[in-house]
Amino acid sequence: MKELILEMEDYASKKNVPIIEKKSIAFIMKYIKDNNVKSILEIGSAIGYSAILMASAKEDVFVTTIERDEERYMECLKNVKRCGMDKKINVVFQDALDVNLSEEVKYDLIFIDAAKAQNTRLFEKYKYFLKPKGAIITDNLKFHGYVEKSDQIESKNLKGLVRKIEEYIEYLKENPEFDTKFYDIGDGLSVSTWKDEK
Ligand code: SAM
Repeated sequence: MKELILEMEDYASKKNVPIIEKKSIAFIMKYIKDNNVKSILEIGSAIGYSAILMASAKEDVFVTTIERDEERYMECLKNVKRCGMDKKINVVFQDALDVNLSEEVKYDLIFIDAAKAQNTRLFEKYKYFLKPKGAIITDNLKFHGYVEKSDQIESKNLKGLVRKIEEYIEYLKENPEFDTKFYDIGDGLSVSTWKDEK
C-alpha cells in the first residue's frame, strides 16, 4: 500500500495530475476517524490517490468517487484494484454535474475536489445527499496563493478562475443553511456542516 501511494505520487508529478497535499489528506483522514465517517462521496477522483487514502482511514469506510476524464478514471480503477479496495471504493466515470445518484443514499462526508470554477454548482447539487450530521469538505480554497490577489493576476483565465473561488468562499460565508470553518492547511480547506440538523 505504501509503495502504491509513492508510485501514485510519482505518476501524478510526472503526468501533471493534481492530487491533494499531504497535510490536507492527513487532516481529512483524522476527520474521518474523529467523526466516525463511514460513507464518503468524492467529486474528482483523478487517479484515486485521495479516495484510497480516505478509504484506508478506517475499516468501515466506503467511498463513491466520480471522475469525468477517461484516462484518469482508468488509472483510478487500476489503482483501486491494485490495493484490493474494489469492495470499498466505487468509481463512477461521468461528469458530476450529470450524475443522478439514488436519492435514498446519503453520505457522512462529501469531498468536493473537481473543477474549482464549479464549486458552488457542485455544492448546491450535492448538499441534498449529505446526512444531517455530515460535512462537505472543499479543497484548494487558496488556489496556490492566488486567492485574494486576483487583482494582481494578468492571465484572464486564471483571474476568472480565482474570482470564482473567491465568490465560492463568500457563498460559504453567507450561506443561510451551512456553517463553514476555514482551515489554513495545505492549499486551504473548508468544512461545512448544516446549521440546523435536518
Ligand atoms: N481528489 C484527487 C486527489 O486528491 O487524489 C484529485 C482530484 S483533481 C484536483 C480534480 C479532478 O476532478 C480531475 O481529475 C478532473 O478531471 C476531475 N473533474 C473536474 N471537474 C469534474 C466534474 N464536473 N465531474 C467529474 N470530475 C471532474
